[in-house]
Amino acid sequence: MVVNQVVNSVFRSCSYILSQAERSWLVDCGDVDKIMPLIEGTLCGVLLTHGHFDHIYGLNQLLSLYPDVTIYTNEEGFETLYNDKLNFSKFYGNSIQLQPVNNIKIVHDGERVELFDGISVQAVFTPGHSPCSVTWVLDDMMFTGDSYIPGVKTVTNVPHSNKPQAVNSESIIKRLADHRTVYPGHAPESLEII
Ligand SMILES: [Zn+2]
Repeated sequence: MVVNQVVNSVFRSCSYILSQAERSWLVDCGDVDKIMPLIEGTLCGVLLTHGHFDHIYGLNQLLSLYPDVTIYTNEEGFETLYNDKLNFSKFYGNSIQLQPVNNIKIVHDGERVELFDGISVQAVFTPGHSPCSVTWVLDDMMFTGDSYIPGVKTVTNVPHSNKPQAVNSESIIKRLADHRTVYPGHAPESLEII
């Protein structure tokens, strides 16, 4: 499996493209123009680490290009996709709400999603930074979103964040990170992390 990173233009949030045998999966969706050339073959789905707008703002454009792609998030994340206050975009002068679509799959804590033949990813709920935060865990890698960015204090001063939950989630992630590569939700030197 190949993992490619895109550093997006909004707050240097990160998207990741996982590819193998002409199938690809995307983790979070920012700059579609940068993401598209890295998609190999069929785009099967999008795994969301959380619903803050800097991690989802490309979804409408992506869905116009790939209308059959499935978006994976949890119940709380689902709400943020359609609510510009919950995803914070309203407060940054650019309202972002997902077009009505049916292809959203609500995942539960611990649920597995098969990505490629014999390779599945597990949704581990890591709330705190946001109520909808999910860390996606594979055999030797994990996508932590903003629940854990190595070397950066987890942001818990935004609406609906919860510091005790974030501390607990971070300890869960650090345990899981023992033998795994961490792919976080922002590139170094982000000016803002939400
Ligand atoms: Zn965030």
